[in-house]
Amino acid sequence: MTRQSLSEITRTTMSACGSGVALDHDGGMEIVSPVDGSVVARLATDDADTTGAAIDRASAAFRAWRMVPAPRRGELVRLFGEELRKSKEDLGRMVSIEAGKSPSEGQGEVQEMIDICDFAVGLSRQLYGLTIATERPGHRMMETWHPLGVVGIITAFNFPCAPWCWNSALALVCGDPVVWKPSEKTPLTALACQAVLDRAIARFGDEAPEGLSQVLVGGPEVGTALVESEKVALISATGSTRMGRIVGPKVAERFGKCILELGGNNAGIVCPSADLDMALRAIAFGAMGTAGQRCTTMRRLFVHEDIYDQIVPALKKAYGSVTIGNPLETDALVGPLIDGAAFEGMTAALDEARSLGGTVHGGGREDVGAEAAYYVRPALVEMPSHEGPVLRETFAPILYVMKYSDFDRVLEDHNAVGGGLSSSVFTTDLREMETFLSARGSDCGIANVNIGTSGAEIGGAFGGEKETGGGRESGSDAWRAYMRRSTNTINYSRELPLAQGVVFDI
Ligand code: NAD
Repeated sequence: MTRQSLSEITRTTMSACGSGVALDHDGGMEIVSPVDGSVVARLATDDADTTGAAIDRASAAFRAWRMVPAPRRGELVRLFGEELRKSKEDLGRMVSIEAGKSPSEGQGEVQEMIDICDFAVGLSRQLYGLTIATERPGHRMMETWHPLGVVGIITAFNFPCAPWCWNSALALVCGDPVVWKPSEKTPLTALACQAVLDRAIARFGDEAPEGLSQVLVGGPEVGTALVESEKVALISATGSTRMGRIVGPKVAERFGKCILELGGNNAGIVCPSADLDMALRAIAFGAMGTAGQRCTTMRRLFVHEDIYDQIVPALKKAYGSVTIGNPLETDALVGPLIDGAAFEGMTAALDEARSLGGTVHGGGREDVGAEAAYYVRPALVEMPSHEGPVLRETFAPILYVMKYSDFDRVLEDHNAVGGGLSSSVFTTDLREMETFLSARGSDCGIANVNIGTSGAEIGGAFGGEKETGGGRESGSDAWRAYMRRSTNTINYSRELPLAQGVVFDI
């Protein structure tokens, strides 16, 4: 049997999802798989004109979709969840091809989409407002939540589909059409997702207007057109802090709404009372999983001096033996970096760490028989101090390990970085645990005890503080960002009392 090329697998998988998009567009944007460095497709791209037309279609769709009752909108998302279940393996494979994730991680991302659909369906019957006590007799005061408008979604390469669905499943039940600009590195997965949603829309029928969900293909310039359009009520942007610094002010300038999900510099603290075996496994997954290319990847580790000589040798062993390889052909735990630039960034950070007295274990390129791809051994770096590259996010598998002696002091270091996404403490000491979760503890949006920094589940609000952007998505009351609040006061009396006892008799 001849080995199928990645480009052939891409074609078969895209058509299994129902996508009829042309994958050989003459002179189109090249889509390179990090798995072997080969070009798997050439896609036509959008420009300012086609982006404007897509936004206009979405604006027209909004006028119709906002009037469809929310539980009916939920029915569309329920059907989408059903279609996703049917296409879980195919979409997962697209994630592996485009982002280099292992099949279980690729399918895990699709499972997150299914989970948020289930969550959104329930939510479609629970978009509650409040009834509020009023000081005026014969009056009733309440708040009502209405659909907001067109939602523009910009996503990063490392999670090619789940963050779109965290946004779109909620936006659709809230009454908002969506326009998605995926990473220019992973647009095929986006087009495959759209094809799966189109199957659900076809089953749902005419109540779903044309332009309810659209995908735009291209780079930052297409994102910019979306960001600058006054017709887009909410921009939800996932990516680097660098991108957020550009997008946030542009949206604010036109008084648009924004959800920013940006970079992190996530840390773990291992205390003397920790269950070391459990901590070791959590750190290994958190730091090396997805080749260190998760926003929640553990990048810094503070280990108490009493247990440093137990945990660091065990970590070194795990780093030396973790399996690295082609995610589609082996069951390796660590796949490729996204591209050569990521490898250069990793090498530069390791050089800087060395220059500051760090001892680097691993970090070199691995030969897995794919010269044009970038497979690396994850790097464990013993650092004498909390400085230099330790203070910033390098999007690669580097874990900086530092010794600590005082818990209060280590909390200061823990919080002394720009990112504020995810954090973990490993302890069985109640005081340390509660302090970590308290007002003077971790300043991150996600603070965990005895589990790693990565692998959040649907249901909790996802996002972080400081340079992570402050946005919250997915669970809890994140739905409110996709709606507008109207406060309503009704006078059913024959009087006109003014609030605060103000008198204005004419
Ligand atoms: P990136 O910032 O390079 O690109 C992200 C997206 O933004 C892409 O679609 C890109 O085309 C678009 N973009 C870039 N500049 C833009 C501009 N000026 N205007 C409009 N759009 C623009 O990020 P990346 O390399 O794809 O992803 C990795 C980064 O994303 C890491 O920093 C990671 O931590 C972060 N991330 C954060 C989360 C989160 O939920 N907090 C999740 C995943 C990834």
